[in-house]
Amino acid sequence: MVLACGAVNSAALLLASANEKHPQGLANGSDQVGRNLMKQQLTVLVERFASENSGTFPRSVSVNDYYWGYGDYPYPMGHIENSGGLLQDVIFAESPPLLSVLAQILPGERLKGLAIHSVGWWAQTGMLPDAKNRVYWKKGKLRYEFEPNNFEAHDRLVYRWIEVLKAVEKDVKDAKSNTVFPRGEAPLQVVGYQSGTCRMGTDPATSVLDIHCRTHEIDNLYVVDSSFFPSCAAVGPALTVMANALRVGDHLIDRLKG
Ligand SMILES: Cc1cc2nc3c(=O)[nH]c(=O)nc-3n(C[C@H](O)[C@H](O)[C@H](O)COP(=O)(O)OP(=O)(O)OC[C@H]3O[C@@H](n4cnc5c(N)ncnc54)[C@H](O)[C@@H]3O)c2cc1C
Repeated sequence: MVLACGAVNSAALLLASANEKHPQGLANGSDQVGRNLMKQQLTVLVERFASENSGTFPRSVSVNDYYWGYGDYPYPMGHIENSGGLLQDVIFAESPPLLSVLAQILPGERLKGLAIHSVGWWAQTGMLPDAKNRVYWKKGKLRYEFEPNNFEAHDRLVYRWIEVLKAVEKDVKDAKSNTVFPRGEAPLQVVGYQSGTCRMGTDPATSVLDIHCRTHEIDNLYVVDSSFFPSCAAVGPALTVMANALRVGDHLIDRLKG
C-alpha cells in the first residue's frame, strides 16, 4: 500500500488507524508519526516603482546563492524568488498581514494601482526539524503544536536581500522605495510547503520511513508525499516530492519483480 495524502493528512491517517497490533497508530511504535512537521519561513518584500508593470507577469527570477550562507554566517539562509505580477499572485490574498489588510481596505482601483507599481520578492527559509512540532489527534479532532524556528537564518536572508535591492536601486532611475520596503511575514496558516511528519531515516527510533520510504514497522506500507522530508526545503518542494515518488516507484517495480 502506498500512502500519499500530504504531510499533515498522511500522518493523520496513520495515527487514526490504530488497532490492537499498532495501538499508537500505524508505523508509530516509536511515537514519530506526525512529528517534525516543517514549513518554510516566508517574508514578502514589496519594492515600489514610479513606472508601471503589467501586474500579470510570471515569476521570473530566483536566487539560491544564500543557501550556502553569506559572509561569516555559514548556515543555509534560504531562497529568494520574485513573486511575479502582484495582480496574479497569492500575496494579497493569502500571506502577509500587512498586504492582506491593504487588500481589504483599499478600493479595487487603488489596490490595482499599488500592484502595478510594485514588484514583490519572497524570502524563504526552511525551518528546522523539531519533534515537538507535530500534528496529533485529541478527542476526535486533529490538532497541532508548532513553534517556528530558524529565525536568525531567515532574518539574515531578509536583511541581506534589502541590502541587495537598495544597491540595485541606485542604478534604477524610477525605483521609489529608497529605504522603505514594506514586509509581511506569512502566518502559520500558509502551510502549502508542509513537510516532515513521517521522516525518512535509517534509525527506527527517530524516523518513520526507511530510505525507500517503506515504514520501518510495516513491510508493505510506503509513504511517498512530502512527509518523508528529513529537513525542510526553502524552495518549492513539489519537484522533490515527484522525483522521490519516481524513485520509490522504481524500487517497488524491482521489489515486485524480485
Ligand atoms: C497555494 C500553493 C502554492 C504552491 N506553489 C508551489 C510552487 O510554486 N512550487 C512548488 O514546488 N510547490 C508549491 N506548493 C507546494 C506543493 O503543492 C506541495 O509541496 C506538493 O503538492 C506536496 O505534494 P504531496 O504529494 O505531499 O501532497 P499533495 O499534492 O497535497 O497531495 C495529497 C493528495 O492527497 C489527497 N488526500 C488528502 N487526504 C486524503 C485522504 N484521507 N484520502 C484520500 N486522499 C486524500 C489530497 O486531496 C491530495 O490530492 C504550493 C502549495 C500551495 C498550497
